[in-house]
Amino acid sequence: MISRLIHNERTARNAKPYCQCWNQNRPRLWESSGGCACGEHADISEWRWEMPESTGTSWVMMCPDQKQVTFHPFYSSGTAAVKGDTPLVRDYHYYWEIKMLTEPYGTDIMVGLGTNKVNMADSLFTFTSFLGRNGESYGLSYTGALRHNASVTRDNVGFCKGSIIGVKVDLWQGTLEFYINRKSQGISFYNLRRHQALYPMICSTAAQSSMRLIYAASWQASLLVDAAKILAASVNGEKSLFLPPGLKHTLKSQFWLTLPNHKCILDVDEETPELSPSSPSKPDSSMSLSSGLKRKHWHRRW
Ligand SMILES: [Zn+2]
Repeated sequence: MISRLIHNERTARNAKPYCQCWNQNRPRLWESSGGCACGEHADISEWRWEMPESTGTSWVMMCPDQKQVTFHPFYSSGTAAVKGDTPLVRDYHYYWEIKMLTEPYGTDIMVGLGTNKVNMADSLFTFTSFLGRNGESYGLSYTGALRHNASVTRDNVGFCKGSIIGVKVDLWQGTLEFYINRKSQGISFYNLRRHQALYPMICSTAAQSSMRLIYAASWQASLLVDAAKILAASVNGEKSLFLPPGLKHTLKSQFWLTLPNHKCILDVDEETPELSPSSPSKPDSSMSLSSGLKRKHWHRRW
């Protein structure tokens, strides 16, 4: 009975795949080879996953391109985690995307980031929500839970097999924003600039769970990038035909600049809860969970 309640809580979220491929009955081989390539048109990968030195292949297996990771390939006895091979640099904008290739289940599967103080191998024999256990990491769970500094909010839809989870880190302003299937979930955390070194991270407790890094780009914060964002937001449809080819190419390869901000999504997505008009309009200067996903109202367009 209890397990059924827990199961219901974990699956009640309205998580959806990015494309319809994952709704069909495909042979298992199709999934184990990585499934579809939808949403993977931009072949940019500025960093890869790093095979953890202290973790054996019983916990983590990695494709030779170091983009696709399978956790617990045989059976699971705890929590495995991997991080990116390159630290994030201050004053850069980052956006990366991960495709969930298997159905998430169990204690936790998370996408996020953490500092160089996170011990990647300290939970190999413990089933835990690895990211966000303390102030050194941040994580979004497949259940929709957002975790940081041992605090949890559950205002998110979470993700399932076939979902694309996007992570946008603005190390100019110090903000972290998650995307599900290229829809913004709002800024979740502030004040990330206080960390010395941050790395992308993923973790899982589930046997034979796989994820693939499908895109990883960055752009140094500048007036140029701000201008590109504003231009991208104002150009769509036929208007884009009049763009210079170089700029058109840039906006295609750096497509994340054109992803709508949260305010736009609220205007069109009826499933999203209503705004709280009484909320303050400035982001917290202190690090905080935006339980505050109800505080969806900032005025900055990008
Ligand atoms: Zn597809």
